[in-house]
Amino acid sequence: MERNIFEKIRDGDAEASIVYKDEYVTAFHDINPDAPIHILIIPNRKITSMNEISEEDNVYLALILLTAKKIAQDFNITESGYRLITNCGKDGGQEIDYLHFHLVGGTHLGKMISLPKNKKNINIM
Ligand code: 5GP
Repeated sequence: MERNIFEKIRDGDAEASIVYKDEYVTAFHDINPDAPIHILIIPNRKITSMNEISEEDNVYLALILLTAKKIAQDFNITESGYRLITNCGKDGGQEIDYLHFHLVGGTHLGKMISLPKNKKNINIM
């Protein structure tokens, strides 16, 4: 089966600006950054999205968080703050079917959720 872009980056078969890599995780700069610091962190085991995580993945998931903390330290945004996001599925805005966490920072990020203007009147579920 054809590997997607994040599998190719993980395998070293597609170009990316890697900021961290070990046996469990790979982190690289987002090609189209939404903030001065925008880094993607993926598990080296292919997990399609949050919907597919299981207890077997606990080491990967824990190491993603620890890697995010380490990268935040390396980029000197520990004090100023940052955000760690994963998008899941269509409504979540997930474009690439490989679990990934966006580490964004380097500026004030504003409110967490921005809905399109025509969706501002929401009904709480
Ligand atoms: P999603 O919308 O799935 O949560 O985020 C996918 C992210 O991957 C987007 O922010 C997009 O800019 C980034 N992206 C897509 N293709 C590439 C690529 O080829 N290389 C890198 N480094 N990032 C990519």
